[in-house]
Amino acid sequence: MSARCVACGMPMESAADHASGDLEKDYCIHCTRPDGSMQSYQEKLESMVQFIARSEGLTNDRAREKAMKWLTRQPAWQGRTSPYNPVPHKKTTDRF
Ligand SMILES: [Zn+2]
Repeated sequence: MSARCVACGMPMESAADHASGDLEKDYCIHCTRPDGSMQSYQEKLESMVQFIARSEGLTNDRAREKAMKWLTRQPAWQGRTSPYNPVPHKKTTDRF
């Protein structure tokens, strides 16, 4: 049984995938700050936007939509009352 990162949903198959190589941590190395703590939603969102834009060749706006949809499904961010959550059929602003 493999764990999943609570922040980004990435499967963590070995200790090396966990933050700081620590199996007790429920987030992955990609969601870890240099000091070993978990990145904030904002930090995670920005890195994910960059990643999606690059890997899928999308504009930053499209990549941001996808990243936000994905992140709101992850356990770490669920129930979060966020101004960043996409609201269907309504104009969203680019303010942060
Ligand atoms: Zn992660």
